Amino acid sequence: MRFNPKARIDQSQIETRSGGGGGGSRLPIPMGGGGKIGLGTVVIVILFVVIQQFTGSVGGGGDAATTNTCQTGADANRSDACAVDLFTNSVQDYWRTAYPQQEKGAYEPIKTVRFQGSTNSACGQADANTGPFYCPNDRKVYLDSSFFKDMLEGQLGAKGGTFAIGYVIAHEYGHHIEDQLGVLGRIKTTQGPKSDSVRVELMADCLAGAWARGAQQTKDADGNAIIEGLTQEDVKLAIDAAEAVGDDRIQKRGSGGVNPDTFTHGSAEQRVRWFDRGMTQGTIKACDTFSTDKL
Ligand SMILES: [Zn+2]
Repeated sequence: MRFNPKARIDQSQIETRSGGGGGGSRLPIPMGGGGKIGLGTVVIVILFVVIQQFTGSVGGGGDAATTNTCQTGADANRSDACAVDLFTNSVQDYWRTAYPQQEKGAYEPIKTVRFQGSTNSACGQADANTGPFYCPNDRKVYLDSSFFKDMLEGQLGAKGGTFAIGYVIAHEYGHHIEDQLGVLGRIKTTQGPKSDSVRVELMADCLAGAWARGAQQTKDADGNAIIEGLTQEDVKLAIDAAEAVGDDRIQKRGSGGVNPDTFTHGSAEQRVRWFDRGMTQGTIKACDTFSTDKL
């Protein structure tokens, strides 16, 4: 696949936070005691951009994450950070249409916080090791765009590829859909093969699959297609990423042994199967992991 070079990135869905691009220019974002993201943060971020423009040197080598220059699909074809932004637009465009067709009410758009270094969320401190996550307390998706090269392809050994980024973003937005549906409030058991936690994660994989099915129909604000030429190979890369983040795979890489009693996300086989189910059936109902014992 590639992004339509003419597709325009809607930056209103993205919040970029930067600790600086290296070289000692790290600027921590101070947060109020409660960790609530408020006006203070916005002011600091704007301040940082202004300082950057005046000094011209902060952040160094033109990384899109530090200067937020992602504007088009052509940028997204060149940069993982810009791909995160455009996938965010694609996933939210998908749900804006698909959600009200299946559920009461409208899809409620949220923001992806793309950060470098570390940042605060209403769910606690996040850094590159945290991995991408959805925070229900402030309803934002958090992600360090170095995750894909350093963690997913590096430590977790996935093949990577652009569509794997899409899978990860769509999985996190799947949690937001679950939040809207009231599913996140039902988590009581957090570990084990039939735990609520595993159900929530597999459901998010399935919802990511539903997006993958409709991804080529998603459009930017001007009506331009966002994604072009999606192939079976791309889908395989998304599936490969889903496998790489399976609990059994991660446990094997860590301790060598596999213990389903401590599963929180589901096995590689389960994650792939639920992603595939979402992709073939394409409905929220088909992704209901709470109404089945066959996980
Ligand atoms: Zn998840």
